[in-house]
Amino acid sequence: MDVEAEETVRELRAAYTTGKTKSFEWRASQLKAIQEMLTLHTHQIIQALRSDLNKPEFEAVIHEVKTTLISFPSSAKIVSEPLGLVLVISAWNFPFALSLDPVVGAIAAGNAVVLKPSESAPATSSLLAQLVEKYMDTSAVKVVEGAVSQTTALLHQKWDKIFYTGNIYIYIYVIGHLTPVVLELGGKCPAVLDSNINLKHLLELTLKHAFDKKPKCCADLNSHVAARRIIAGKWGCNSGQACISPDYIITTKDFVSQLVNIMSVELEKFFGKEPLHSKELSSIINTHHFNRLVKLLDDGQVSGKIVCGGECDVSNLKIAPTIILDVSRDSVMMDEEIFGPILPIITVDKIEECFGVINGKEKPLAAYLFTNNKKLEAKFVTNISAGGMIINDTILHFLEPGLPFGGVGESGMGAYHGKFSFDAFSHKKPVLKRSFAIDISARYPPYTPGKRRFLSAVVQGNLLDILRSLGSCW
Ligand code: NAD
Repeated sequence: MDVEAEETVRELRAAYTTGKTKSFEWRASQLKAIQEMLTLHTHQIIQALRSDLNKPEFEAVIHEVKTTLISFPSSAKIVSEPLGLVLVISAWNFPFALSLDPVVGAIAAGNAVVLKPSESAPATSSLLAQLVEKYMDTSAVKVVEGAVSQTTALLHQKWDKIFYTGNIYIYIYVIGHLTPVVLELGGKCPAVLDSNINLKHLLELTLKHAFDKKPKCCADLNSHVAARRIIAGKWGCNSGQACISPDYIITTKDFVSQLVNIMSVELEKFFGKEPLHSKELSSIINTHHFNRLVKLLDDGQVSGKIVCGGECDVSNLKIAPTIILDVSRDSVMMDEEIFGPILPIITVDKIEECFGVINGKEKPLAAYLFTNNKKLEAKFVTNISAGGMIINDTILHFLEPGLPFGGVGESGMGAYHGKFSFDAFSHKKPVLKRSFAIDISARYPPYTPGKRRFLSAVVQGNLLDILRSLGSCW
């Protein structure tokens, strides 16, 4: 490996990690530096371009340094055009929505579409094939069912865009074609719970003001709300088999036992004393994933301890909502996406340590923070990079059509939903329309001294000189 390249990347990544490139001051100072560099070294730049390309000074300035005045008068617009034929490959966990959502965007933008639903949800795949056949114009919208071999055969064809939802380990092999992709992947989504999440103070103040007495029952009101929202995003969402379900919790050591108690109480309210028999709890999709999760549970117990749930029933592929405490941070459970009903809790002395834990991993698809602390909230939004983020709830950003949904880094690339789906499946074509009314000959050779005077006035941005020199280059 090239040591110099490695060292450069290491240095610059370290600088980025300090957070300095995010500050307004840094960005403004660096952009000003570029401006100064261009102003002070225009001559050198022109000389260098002359030396490399024998480029005339006039062209150097017009094409590489400055000015849009040369296109005056004109109008500009952006035309959205469809990309062509797109392939949508979807996953099993929300097999209907994850198939139709991108198809809707692709059609809205004017594309022809092939949908390849997941073979792991065969009933939905088959239904989609039947319904699309019945309702859609199958000359331009088709469902191709199948597993790896059918998908591989599809991937060998030329597509104008591929929209893939699934796990990161299945790479898209697009042989021989330059194909843009949207990758909707997964990862480990953290939920951070600050101990400062109850309304105690606020309610105390309000009630004291209104009735001159202290409330008795609201001390942990928001902790219960937070617990319920985490449960809804984890076990109430396909039994944790959702890409944006909380994958692990980070909370403080002084709050964890209270949190576990509250979550156990709320879990019992949702799924009863015997959750394996609850109709409200989804099954694991298949024995492969059931066995993977059971193994994860066994591994997790080696370093941590189950404080809630843990029961499994292979006959109906169910695993009870399970909370594990003190899992080792380098365990498999804290390395791989769990994608199931197991929720490990990592404890820290101070909640600010969450930044080190989250940023020590790949960028998540979603990150959640429960807090009433505005400073912590601002720091979380600025310092955690994630596909999406919610303060004081989980998963709901997925349902908000005004928000783009997608990953960043290892959690994916590209985004969709609502208008963003339309954008994902169209090309933004800039169209500039010139008028015949004025034709400044300064742009055409030969580049006379008069034209150069005009150019220099344009570069200086001096309107009076521009008007004066216009006469000599008309
Ligand atoms: P899956 O097994 O259904 O696979 C996804 C698609 O890839 C299927 O259509 C399948 O046929 C195809 N496929 C599988 N193996 C292939 C291969 N070798 N070559 C070509 N194509 C192949 O679903 P999965 O991958 O288990 O889905 C779960 C993962 O997807 C999780 O990581 C989850 O986080 C992620 N996910 C992400 C989103 C999102 O919107 N970002 C949504 C749902 C799931």
